[in-house]
Amino acid sequence: MSASAVLPVPPESLPNAAGRFGAFGGCYVPETLMTALKELGEVYETARHDPAYRAELLRHLKEFAGRPTELYFAERLTAHCGGAKIYFKREDLLHTGAHKINNAIGQVLLAKRMGKPRIIAETGAGQHGVATAAVCAKFGLKCRVYMGAVDMERQALNVFRMRLMGAEVVGVEAGQKTLKDAVNEAMRDWVTNVRDTHYILGSALGAHPYPMMVRDFHRVIGQEARAQMLEREGRLPDEIIACVGGGSNAMGVFFDFLKDEQVRLVGVEAGGHGISKGEHAARFEGGKLGVLQGCKTYILQNDDGQIELTHSISAGLDYAAIGPEHAYYRDTGRIRYAYACDDEVMETFQLCSRLEGIIPALESTHAIVEGVKRARQMRPDEILLINLSGRGDKDVNQVAKLLGVKLF
Ligand SMILES: *Cc1c(COP(=O)(O)O)cnc(C)c1O
Repeated sequence: MSASAVLPVPPESLPNAAGRFGAFGGCYVPETLMTALKELGEVYETARHDPAYRAELLRHLKEFAGRPTELYFAERLTAHCGGAKIYFKREDLLHTGAHKINNAIGQVLLAKRMGKPRIIAETGAGQHGVATAAVCAKFGLKCRVYMGAVDMERQALNVFRMRLMGAEVVGVEAGQKTLKDAVNEAMRDWVTNVRDTHYILGSALGAHPYPMMVRDFHRVIGQEARAQMLEREGRLPDEIIACVGGGSNAMGVFFDFLKDEQVRLVGVEAGGHGISKGEHAARFEGGKLGVLQGCKTYILQNDDGQIELTHSISAGLDYAAIGPEHAYYRDTGRIRYAYACDDEVMETFQLCSRLEGIIPALESTHAIVEGVKRARQMRPDEILLINLSGRGDKDVNQVAKLLGVKLF
């Protein structure tokens, strides 16, 4: 497979000026938001070429978030699998517990540049809400986070963390009362308050320029991993695996390897209870082309275009649409997609904790499930890199409950 066959357009020129990754992406929003998105795109374009912006971003990524994160050799997991050498990129070590802070810092600095004193965000499990609340506290901006009422109950600890940091958390009672409904409310707020408000969207999703911008803020993951791997092993990894919700941690770690055709890239979706209607969130297993919340991509929907119910053990992967850039590289064949089911995730969550002394987020555990399968099929002289997108502290209550352990 040659790079020209799978990369009809070089990655750095995607998306095009209209925000399209081939047939995917774009900007499907009400008229009132077009101006705000255009302004955001222009401010971002200027900022990313401005040495002062870049220096400030780097400083906060280091001092506040804790970058660079380590590249870690998972020695006992490697021995357990008996195949490829397994490395973790330790995004779980970042402040607030996951990669999400990379994007939150990047966007809050843009809000400051635009002179917008008020921030809104949506959140599912609460990780993006917590990261956003943290940067708003740090920079003294007003913060409102929309969260489905069902998610608020499931993630009461994260709601409390956000409130401790001064954010207002608003429960959404519409629809399924989960992430999709929270995004709708956030967009409604933005339409009304667009003059003084910036919307910090939390994944490589939504209308242009968000998928591009969020990806760019996470590219630091792959750039660091590349340099660390070259220093450690003297060569690039043979395969990189990451979990895919909206797709931001995966695009972040993959992007700077897209042109290295010898490096295989694998995204892992949520297989939930298995691939049958309403029981999973694997958009590439039965999803169809459509438009949801600003962009064109693969969506789990019925024949009338109604969004299907989704399910995953991990709230962070439980969403009916996938980021448009993933749709593009799936169709060109550059990235392969797999899925992991809840029961495999439960088993591997415990395995990784026991063998490595690292409790991974349930989202990240999806990548480890696929990693364990792949490592076994690979030779000991091959190298596998898994992006550990977050830590599992937020998940221990849920796992205890599923294991029948009473904590309080
Ligand atoms: C939110 C989250 C994800 C899923 O989001 P992506 O945009 O697909 O990266 C994955 N892992 C963790 C730990 C998360 O918090």
